[in-house]
Amino acid sequence: MIKDPTKRSASQKIYRDKHKEDAKEYAKKYKFLHKEEISRKHKEYYLANKEKWVKRGNRYYWDNKEKRFEYIRGYCVRNRKNWLEYLLSKNPSPKCEVCGKELKYFDGKDGIHFDHRENGNESIQHHPSSWMGRHPLNKNNIEKFESCNFGILCIRCNRILPTIGRQSFMRRLIKYVFKKDIIL
Ligand SMILES: [Zn+2]
Repeated sequence: MIKDPTKRSASQKIYRDKHKEDAKEYAKKYKFLHKEEISRKHKEYYLANKEKWVKRGNRYYWDNKEKRFEYIRGYCVRNRKNWLEYLLSKNPSPKCEVCGKELKYFDGKDGIHFDHRENGNESIQHHPSSWMGRHPLNKNNIEKFESCNFGILCIRCNRILPTIGRQSFMRRLIKYVFKKDIIL
C-alpha cells in the first residue's frame, strides 16, 4: 500500500528534512556500487517491455498526428508572419526583376519566387519561402537569408532560368533569338 504523503506526521517530516543530504549521499553511493546490476536490470526491463513501449509509442505518434501537424503548421505560420513583416519593411511593393509583374510575398500564383542567382551555391538551397516557415526570424537567420542575395522573380520568369549554368544558357538563348553571337 502506498502511504498518502499528506498524512505523514510532522515528526517524520522533520526526520526526512534533517537527513535529506544523507539520503541523497546514500542513493548516490548505492547507484555507484551497484552500477552494473542496475544497468543490467534496466536492460532486462527494456527488453522484456520493448514491444509494449514500441506499441505505446506508435499509438501516441498516430493518436497525436493531427495535434503535431497543427503545432508545426502554427509554428510555420508564426515564422512566416514575422518574415513577412521584415520583407515588407525592406520592400513593400515587390515586382518581378525581369518582367516587372507586381508580386506578393508567400502567395502561390502571384507570389515571389526567390531566385538563386549564385549558381546554386547559396547556403539556403531549396524553396527559400518554405525555409522561412521552418526558421524563425532572428539575427542569424536574417544574416543567412541576406547572404544568399536572392533575386525576386515571378513564377514564369523563374521557370525559364536554370539555376546551374545560367550564364551559358543565356548566351545560347540570346544567340538563338538574335541569330548571332552578341555577347562576347
Ligand atoms: Zn517575371
